[in-house]
Amino acid sequence: MKSLSDRPVYLISDLHLEAGRPGTTGLLLDFLSGPARRARSLYILGDLFEVWIGDDGADELAETVAAAISRLAAAGTPVYFIPGNRDFLVGQDYCRAAGMQALEEPVLLEGLEPKTALVHGDSLCTDDVEYQRFRQRVRHPKWQARVLSRPLWWRRLLARAARGLSKRRNRGKAPEIMDVNADAVRRCFQILAIARLVHGHTHRPGRHQLDIDGRACERIVLGDWHGERGSVVELQGRAARLLILSRDEHGRLQMQPA
Ligand code: MN
Repeated sequence: MKSLSDRPVYLISDLHLEAGRPGTTGLLLDFLSGPARRARSLYILGDLFEVWIGDDGADELAETVAAAISRLAAAGTPVYFIPGNRDFLVGQDYCRAAGMQALEEPVLLEGLEPKTALVHGDSLCTDDVEYQRFRQRVRHPKWQARVLSRPLWWRRLLARAARGLSKRRNRGKAPEIMDVNADAVRRCFQILAIARLVHGHTHRPGRHQLDIDGRACERIVLGDWHGERGSVVELQGRAARLLILSRDEHGRLQMQPA
């Protein structure tokens, strides 16, 4: 039996699960009952769901996912959830059902070298002023309480309207505006005194070596999940690996370097 510290920490984000994408849900379910069992812990860095209108609106897909996550947690891999810009309304009821713990970003990984922090990633996209204003409003507890007090049908309409609006607006934005801002990244490293930052959100998987005040640092970006293809960051010892999760010709899961 390997000791706890020999086991990797797994990070995933941007699965954007919805009923219309069963392949991605199936991949996650097999990941949770397979490779994730090896992990010391699993962190979900936001946008697990394409849309979330409140725990009382959880559908069959959400319940299936909650059951699978809670089985993993019960088998000895604690699961942590950082909300994304799609699923920031995931609440305590759902987290309890899934046996996972909600965390507020930035999350500092305890006892890990190099010192590592996790965020969803949208807070780093400061060039998108319009989005940051929207984020500030919807992340406010008062706004959330007001919205959650509305009936489900109303919240469904609101979510649909918000998605349409954001799609129309993003179409006119230059791609670099929707990527992270270099100064916001630098400040994040400086304020948290970290040497490694892992985030998702931008759907631009990659590893970026940075010099922050003379220190060698790294920013690792998780990719989104689509079809039967996922993105996983594995932290083990001091090493980090960015992996692609997929199926081999027999349908078995495989994880290969991206
Ligand atoms: Mn996102």
